[in-house]
Amino acid sequence: MAFNDSIRGIYQKELGDIRSAGIFKEERIICSPQDSDIDVQFPAGAEQKRVINMCANNYLGLSSHPDVVEAARKGLDHRGYGMSSVRFICGTQDIHKELEGKLTAFLGTEDTILFPSCMDANAGVFEAVLNEQDVMISDRLVHASIVDGMRLCKAQQDTFKHSDMGHLEEKLQLHASARVKLIITDGSFSMDGDLAKLDQIVALAEQYNALVFVDDSHASGFIGRTGRGTHEHCGVLGKIDIITTTLGKALGGASGGCVSGRRELVEMCRQKARPYLFSNTIPPVVVSGANAVLDIISKTTERRDKLERNTAFWRKGLTEAGLIIKDGETPIVPVMLFNAKLSQDFAKELYQEGIYAVGFFFPVVAKGQARIRTQLSAAHDQHHLDKALAAFTKVGKKFEILHKTKQEIIERFGM
Ligand SMILES: *Cc1c(COP(=O)(O)O)cnc(C)c1O
Repeated sequence: MAFNDSIRGIYQKELGDIRSAGIFKEERIICSPQDSDIDVQFPAGAEQKRVINMCANNYLGLSSHPDVVEAARKGLDHRGYGMSSVRFICGTQDIHKELEGKLTAFLGTEDTILFPSCMDANAGVFEAVLNEQDVMISDRLVHASIVDGMRLCKAQQDTFKHSDMGHLEEKLQLHASARVKLIITDGSFSMDGDLAKLDQIVALAEQYNALVFVDDSHASGFIGRTGRGTHEHCGVLGKIDIITTTLGKALGGASGGCVSGRRELVEMCRQKARPYLFSNTIPPVVVSGANAVLDIISKTTERRDKLERNTAFWRKGLTEAGLIIKDGETPIVPVMLFNAKLSQDFAKELYQEGIYAVGFFFPVVAKGQARIRTQLSAAHDQHHLDKALAAFTKVGKKFEILHKTKQEIIERFGM
């Protein structure tokens, strides 16, 4: 047996190091459907506790919506459980094509191709459309899946400082001779909840003859007046060459992702993108649920409007209570605590008060930038937000950080 004690020891030591660094991740166990109110075991095996969820990507509250569940059930009845095939062999049903068409219409693009996840979309897209003659110029804070996808592609790589348009312009000048220059950014950045300056990025792309790639996973369905995404918010609908996004957040939250954009680029993905060619198709039950989600959000902006109202209430409430939040307009609202241990202790106290939120610290965010990231949902009703706000205020008072400056908090708790 090769997995002997000395090899086991290597991994036990590595896991021990992760533990002693205080960054060992543990799962909390949810024993109910995803929603505003959930039953949680934490630690695993502990007695269940009903808490308000403030950290799901369930922005539109569609993850357990009865119409979506019903559509998924019908899909299961009429199209079966699994396809046992990748898309291009025998894994494409009418409902997959229907969903691609609905995504194209909703995102305002020319064509769409589904992937098993957005992680897979990002893993496949760059290699499929770029080669050694091209260059990828990415924002320094893009999502990990984009970093991985870029690694798999032979094009040159460069970066620009986060949302720094002057720096991006320098890089576009530097790489003027490349065959294709692709500017790469998240639409909505998941840790700070800030939006890319897509209007300025598109203007630079036009000036320097570059293409624009946007991962809108934290925006599709709710950012922009009709929820189409960051491109709608910034007034550049139809001008983004490649959009990737996930079905795993606002759009029902099950799984799946896509590349949507220029017809030829999407076709290149159908010919060459490896996760599309070599990984199983999205199951009919999920595709059917997603089709219902697209119907709901194409028909009415009710849910994104409620989310917008919830977000405004929450941002105003936390600020008036005396907590420091990252400014912005997205439903990602980081409550800044700066100190890593404080972020963990704060989250524990919140849990005692019946509020489920998670503290983030280095290396997930920069050193000295520890925080609790709260996320709003259209599934939150006023009573949820009132209770959560009361809990944040109570715990903030307990730690004596209300109406204190960043400097005062750091002086007392350290970085
Ligand atoms: C969540 C997320 C992904 C991954 O999406 P999956 O469909 O879960 O793989 C990719 N990019 C960004 C920006 C994300 O936030």
